[in-house]
Amino acid sequence: MTGFGRLPVVYPPEVDERLSSWAARMAPFYAMTVSEFVAALGLQGQDVFDLEWRLSEGQGALIAARTGLLPEAVQAMTFRELGPQARMMIARKNRLPCPHCPEDLHRKAAALPWRFRCPVHGMEFHDATGETLSARFGSDHFKKLEEYAGAGATHLDAWVRGAGQGDLGVPEVLQVLTARHRRASPPNVDEQPRMSLKDRRDYHDFLTTPIIRQALTVVVPEYDQVAPVLTKPVRPGLHALTQGSLLQCFSLTAGIGRIVEDPVARAIDVLLASDMNGQERVREALRSWPLSLRRSISARFWRAERDEKAHQTAEKTARQRQSHKYRLIQSHKYRYRIS
Ligand SMILES: [Zn+2]
Repeated sequence: MTGFGRLPVVYPPEVDERLSSWAARMAPFYAMTVSEFVAALGLQGQDVFDLEWRLSEGQGALIAARTGLLPEAVQAMTFRELGPQARMMIARKNRLPCPHCPEDLHRKAAALPWRFRCPVHGMEFHDATGETLSARFGSDHFKKLEEYAGAGATHLDAWVRGAGQGDLGVPEVLQVLTARHRRASPPNVDEQPRMSLKDRRDYHDFLTTPIIRQALTVVVPEYDQVAPVLTKPVRPGLHALTQGSLLQCFSLTAGIGRIVEDPVARAIDVLLASDMNGQERVREALRSWPLSLRRSISARFWRAERDEKAHQTAEKTARQRQSHKYRLIQSHKYRYRIS
C-alpha cells in the first residue's frame, strides 16, 4: 500500500455519491482512517472535504490512476459544478436520512438544504424525530407547497451554479423572508397548547416569551400554522437555510418559490401585514432588490394603502351615520316618552 500502484480492491462510487462518502467507505476496507486512505491515494495531508469541493486535474488523475476509476467518475464525486457562494450551504454529511439508503452512503444532493426527497428512491426525507413533511402539513397542503418548493429549488440550483436567474438573487429573497416584519410578541392563543390553569401558571415564562415574527409566516402561512412556536423563528438571511430544520428549510424554499413567482405581490402582502417599525425593516431588506421591482412595489403599495385608508374612512363614516341615526331615534323616543 505504500507504493503508488493500483489498489487491489476499489468500490465503485454509488449514484451521486460524494468523495468524502466514498473515501469513508473505502478506508475501513484497508483498515485505515480517512486521512490515511487519502494519503494512500497519493494526496498526503489533503483534507477530504477540500478535495471533494475542488479536485485539480492532476489530483483527479492521481486518484483515477490509483483506483482504476475513470477521471470523469472521480470528478463527478466533487462539487465542481457549484460556485463559491454554495460552499457554506454544503453539509459535511447527509442533512437528513432516506429510509432506503444505506446509512454510510452520503449523496451530493442530500448535502444541500433544499432537497426534500432522496434522488434515488424518491422517498421523503425524515426529520430527526422520524416525522415527514407530508405528515406535518397534511398531504393536501404538502402537495401544494411541494410545487412551490420545486420552483424555489430550481431558483436555488441556478444560484449555486452561478447561472443567470433573472434579476432577483437568493440572498436578496432570503433577506426579505427572514425580515422581522412585526415586533416580537408572546405566543398568541392559536399558538398555545391547550393548558389547564395550573399549567398556565407553571408555564408562565413560556407564555410570556416574546417570539420573533418574520415575513416567512406571511408568505408561507402554512408554516405559521404548523411550526412549534418556540422554534418558529429562523436565522437571518442565508443562515436560515444552512442552519434550518427540515421544516424550516422546506418552508423557506417554498417561500422562495412563491416570491419568485410574483415578487411584487408577495412584497406588498408582507408590507401590509407589517407594523410600523417592521415596515421599515422590510423596506431595508427590499433595498437590495432591483430598482424596477422596487418601483412597482412602491406604486402598488401606495395604491393598496390608499384603498385601505378609503375603506377605513368609508367604514368610519358609515359607523358615524349609524350612531347619528341611533341618536336621532333615541331623541325621538325620548321626546315621545315625555310627551
Ligand atoms: Zn434513498
